[in-house]
Amino acid sequence: MVLAIIALRNKWRIDMSKKGILIIGAGGVSRVATTKCAMNIDTFENITLASRTLIKCEAIRDDIKKRQKVQIAVRQIDADNVPALVELIKEVNPKLVLNLALPYQDLTIMDACVETGVDYVDTANYEHPDIAKFEYKEQWAKQEDFKKANIKALLGSGFDPGVTGVFCAYAQANLFDSIEYIDIMDCNAGDHGYAFATNFNPEINLREVSAKGRYWQEGKWIETEPLAIRIDHDYPEIGVKPSYLLYHEELESLCKNIKGLKRIRFFMTFGDSYITHMKCLENVGMLGIKEVEHKGMMISPMEFLATLLPDPASLGPRTVGKTNIGCIIEGLKDGKRKKVYIYNICDHQECYKETLAQAVSYTTGVPAMIGSKLIYNGTWKGQGVFNIEEFDANPFMEEMMHQGLPWKVIDLPLD
Ligand code: NDP
Repeated sequence: MVLAIIALRNKWRIDMSKKGILIIGAGGVSRVATTKCAMNIDTFENITLASRTLIKCEAIRDDIKKRQKVQIAVRQIDADNVPALVELIKEVNPKLVLNLALPYQDLTIMDACVETGVDYVDTANYEHPDIAKFEYKEQWAKQEDFKKANIKALLGSGFDPGVTGVFCAYAQANLFDSIEYIDIMDCNAGDHGYAFATNFNPEINLREVSAKGRYWQEGKWIETEPLAIRIDHDYPEIGVKPSYLLYHEELESLCKNIKGLKRIRFFMTFGDSYITHMKCLENVGMLGIKEVEHKGMMISPMEFLATLLPDPASLGPRTVGKTNIGCIIEGLKDGKRKKVYIYNICDHQECYKETLAQAVSYTTGVPAMIGSKLIYNGTWKGQGVFNIEEFDANPFMEEMMHQGLPWKVIDLPLD
């Protein structure tokens, strides 16, 4: 028996001494994911939270100790610095690193995971700080490095990307023989009472919304002017909301991984006030990311704007209303055409009561924990770099029901 375990350990080069989860970043999403990891401490064994500003880690640590009665460790880290990350990972010796810093840190954290032989999970694809563009190219290019190191990277384990990919994979495996059309519908009907604020990191949010729209059809990308396509969609339990076509990162992987697909699009709701403010800020140059000289100092207008706007992590207590994020999927089953809507609804105040964060952080932080859990406990296996829809969706859907993100599937009439 002992020899068998040693042989297995050598075969898969499993380092049995690695234990626990290291979470990097201490913003709104991290608060939720860290709290949820603490609520699943039987799986994660121990938790270390590290970020640029130690005091933010300490605040989350203290709330978790008070509310979940779980003790977590905290560390300071600059996640742009690979040697510092390597040193931290070696010191903590975790089984998995969950990256909840910003998309700018994806590559450095992935490199540190390869160097230390530790599995990696994130929620957003890499963005270059100086170019307002996001794509999987650089992360997918690390495929061989991850394989050689005998570890895996799970990319995009938030809600969108994340659960939306899981919904598509679930539909592909259980509801359809082939899927032809997918519309991802993201509605935040929450009200925080401010004239203008973003629900997650302002810089990332505004870069995404002010970019050109793009969708995939019959093997080609079709580009639109920013917010040029609007539909009025009836969201279950919320009602009709104006929804705008955006480019969103999961389109890039889903058009490859859902076989037979003819079109995939992404829509997000925005109120008139949000759009008027955003356009005005854009017109005066406040969304620019190139540095400008101001009184002898170089500043990035977008970074300065982010400093002025409310911290998304502070919106929790004042946000009321619901989110509804889901996928409308159409295709063929047993030779017949069908259309379904798979979605989750969250209530901002319920999320706040449980985790001290609003629903946008909640709907990202819970899937980040679930994806990490399935990697950590060995349910999702493999070596290399994976998008979430490449794994079996069923255990993730099962976890969602128990971890605060219950989902529904309803049949929709065909057009
Ligand atoms: P926040 O801005 O609230 O938090 C980001 C955290 O990362 C902060 O604590 C910040 O530190 C820390 N950080 C930034 N740079 C570094 C660095 N160089 N080294 C160490 N720590 C650093 O963002 P959110 O919590 O709103 O978002 C977290 C991630 O989740 C983002 O990548 C975002 O794109 C993603 N996301 C994904 C969604 C999805 O559905 N897939 C939806 C929403 C968000 P400091 O406190 O010092 O600034």
